[in-house]
Amino acid sequence: MENLKTKVIHGGISTDPTTGAVSVPIYQTSTYQQNALGQPKTYEYSRSGNPTRHALERLIADLEAGVQGFAFGSGLAGIHAVLSLFAAGDHVILADDVYGGTFRLVDKVLSRAGITYDLVDLSDLDVLKNAFKKETKAVYFETPSNPLLKVLDIQEISKIAKAHGALTLVDNTFATPYLQRPLTLGADVVLHSATKYLGGHSDVVAGLVTTNSQDLAEQIGFLQNAIGGVLGPQDSWLVQRGIKTLALRMEAHSKNASKIAEFLENSHEVAKVYYPGLASQTGHEIAQKQMAAFGGMLSFELKNEQAVKTFVESLQYFTLAESLGGVESLVEVPAVMTHASIPKNIREQIGIKDGLIRLSVGIEDISDLLSDLTQALEKAK
Ligand SMILES: *Cc1c(COP(=O)(O)O)cnc(C)c1O
Repeated sequence: MENLKTKVIHGGISTDPTTGAVSVPIYQTSTYQQNALGQPKTYEYSRSGNPTRHALERLIADLEAGVQGFAFGSGLAGIHAVLSLFAAGDHVILADDVYGGTFRLVDKVLSRAGITYDLVDLSDLDVLKNAFKKETKAVYFETPSNPLLKVLDIQEISKIAKAHGALTLVDNTFATPYLQRPLTLGADVVLHSATKYLGGHSDVVAGLVTTNSQDLAEQIGFLQNAIGGVLGPQDSWLVQRGIKTLALRMEAHSKNASKIAEFLENSHEVAKVYYPGLASQTGHEIAQKQMAAFGGMLSFELKNEQAVKTFVESLQYFTLAESLGGVESLVEVPAVMTHASIPKNIREQIGIKDGLIRLSVGIEDISDLLSDLTQALEKAK
């Protein structure tokens, strides 16, 4: 079964092996009866394993070409488990515009355990090559990145990391496996905030991780159970349900976002647009090579920075909210919302201006979205 459009529906464990139920049931149980003393059945305790969660874990492994999947209570819980592969003295290279919460986790929490890091511009491969130390264990990045939609070359970065004996860890939240599959391009571990496109309906917080290395799968499985940040059965079911329409949604998101990117690029009120599908975007050629379409996320700067507040508050269909990846369109201002935890001087250094606006383009009718943007731009002159 090669086609992802089929895989999102039939991949993993798509029917319940016990009852034949076409929707995998929500096994709302914490523990399982054992056959005899010292002879548990397949499952023992729901932190270690749950059939509903297991179905989702099999599914993400199938979609990303991994050998095993892991579901967590949030994207960050999954990131925490994976970064717990490392110990005091280890060094990690982080993309300079990594998700704010990931930066905070490494900078404020994992640093206490003696893990060190450097923020590196991974779009310059020579800069990357010079960033390795002998204790570097991993290169961690997102592509497209958040919120500047910078596209990084997964294949080239993986090659360089491998040559330095380091792992390549890719947060694939923005693209999803429907648009891009990092493990097939040389990455070792793929991470997701399933809260976003995989869930797809802004109704669940979840994280997914997968790897194509049996050895890493064993280590991550150990950490998932030892740290314990697992996803509950209800939420596992919601994410699996969301994934069934991933193909349709990602195509609709990409189509709408491409049209909006073009519209904004031609607007007199807009100074700059960031979207992987635009020829002007950093890494556009790489995006054409490694992505099936360009996704639903885009950012832009207004010419009049003072008008940001008026603009975002004038929109009708783009709800002012953090998060992304749901069927409904959202708007946010990274400097005061999603990226506020990054100190202002670092934020400016990496190009996140106070006037930057990020859109998560939903799957509403494109003409309604365009008229909404038009009326808000008119007010923001
Ligand atoms: C939201 C997000 C995360 C964190 O996921 P949570 O589910 O909120 O914990 C990590 N990476 C990216 C790219 C995100 O957008």
